Amino acid sequence: MLLLFDIDGTLLIKGADAHAAAVVAALCEVWEVEPPQRAHGVEAAGRTDQAIARDILELAGVPAEQFEARRDDFIVAAASHYERLVPDNLSDRLAPHAAEVLAQLSEQTRYRCSLVTGNIQQVARLKLGAAGILYPFAEGQGGFGSDSDDRNDLPPIARMRAGQLWNGGDAWPAEGTVVIGDTPRDIACARADGALVVAVATGPFSADQLSDADVVLEDLRELDVALDSLS
Ligand SMILES: [Mg+2]
Repeated sequence: MLLLFDIDGTLLIKGADAHAAAVVAALCEVWEVEPPQRAHGVEAAGRTDQAIARDILELAGVPAEQFEARRDDFIVAAASHYERLVPDNLSDRLAPHAAEVLAQLSEQTRYRCSLVTGNIQQVARLKLGAAGILYPFAEGQGGFGSDSDDRNDLPPIARMRAGQLWNGGDAWPAEGTVVIGDTPRDIACARADGALVVAVATGPFSADQLSDADVVLEDLRELDVALDSLS
């Protein structure tokens, strides 16, 4: 079973301050704009870095087409600002039971741990490294906010990459894939791909708001039980 973990709100709680600052710094650098005052009002939960960045840039008066033209420069700049800004240690931001659950699941050969996150790939890996939980996630695996601005594109990308490493080159099947996330957008991207989904109520959404998932958990503690029930 392929496990596609979201990061913010799922594995880490309130661990994205430096990340948000890096995105704004990259926008200011690439498009030579002043940081917009209302950037903090842009919705972030469950969205990709590219989609968030485009909205912030529009607040700064730059139309969306201009974002597209320099998207790649933005991704490189955001990763490099994050490398500069990332705290040395984010382990105090680990979600409840995240470290123990990852340790437990990554030991079991029936599970393959990967990622589906709106974070730019390099940001995701730096962030997980600072939190001490990068080790279950093979380099080059996952679907990231640097791959697409639409979260619904990310599970198929992650399955394709998983297939190259673990399934003889054929995309990992959707029916053997579980998205684990904290927002209705995580649920929607799993549904769009025909994958299963476990929601955790450790982000900004309550268990009631996540009731469209196959399983809803208060936190990650019983994830192994939930996965058993799905397989
Ligand atoms: Mg999230």
